[in-house]
Amino acid sequence: MFEQIKLSYDFAALEPHIDELTMQTHYGKHHAAYTNNLNSALEKLPGLAGKSIEDILQNLEAIDDPALRTTVRNNGGGYYNHNLYFDILSPQGGQPPQGKLAEQIEADFGSLEELVKKLTATAASVFGSGWAWLSKDPSGKLVVTSTPNQDNPLMTHGGQLTPILGIDVWEHAYYLKYKNMRADYLKEIFKVIDWNKVAQRYTEA
Ligand code: MN
Repeated sequence: MFEQIKLSYDFAALEPHIDELTMQTHYGKHHAAYTNNLNSALEKLPGLAGKSIEDILQNLEAIDDPALRTTVRNNGGGYYNHNLYFDILSPQGGQPPQGKLAEQIEADFGSLEELVKKLTATAASVFGSGWAWLSKDPSGKLVVTSTPNQDNPLMTHGGQLTPILGIDVWEHAYYLKYKNMRADYLKEIFKVIDWNKVAQRYTEA
């Protein structure tokens, strides 16, 4: 049984950048539904028992039944993506990262500001529902990509990328407060991204 990560902050703690009702709905309804649907699908796939979610998502082709494969892709992706997203948000966010990640950002993008610009442009350009990502490749290099729906970088690039930061641009992530203004949400989200959590994921990847 997969379980949602426990939040280290209250639903209202990310105000005014992310509002309380959005957090309640996003974590309590959307993320909960992805998790429940994933667990239900896995009951029909005993061969996957005990596997990590990363392993399952990197090997979706191992699921023979096309309908079950799609269910695991969408809901397993939703489960993994939201665990990552909620984990890297924090009321103490917005401070630049330290250490190896800071050095790699400078090497790959010139500055944190330039990386944020690239992530923002990538997130803004997602048509419909999807995600923008910062991932680490096997050489340690940082890569910015986007995915549709609940796909993620574990499913692309031959499973070579490890996502360390994800920005949800489904409307459910921002519509209650920002309506159709995704650009306004993207300005605010970076004020609650905990770059030290991202740095920790970079080191562990
Ligand atoms: Mn979402």
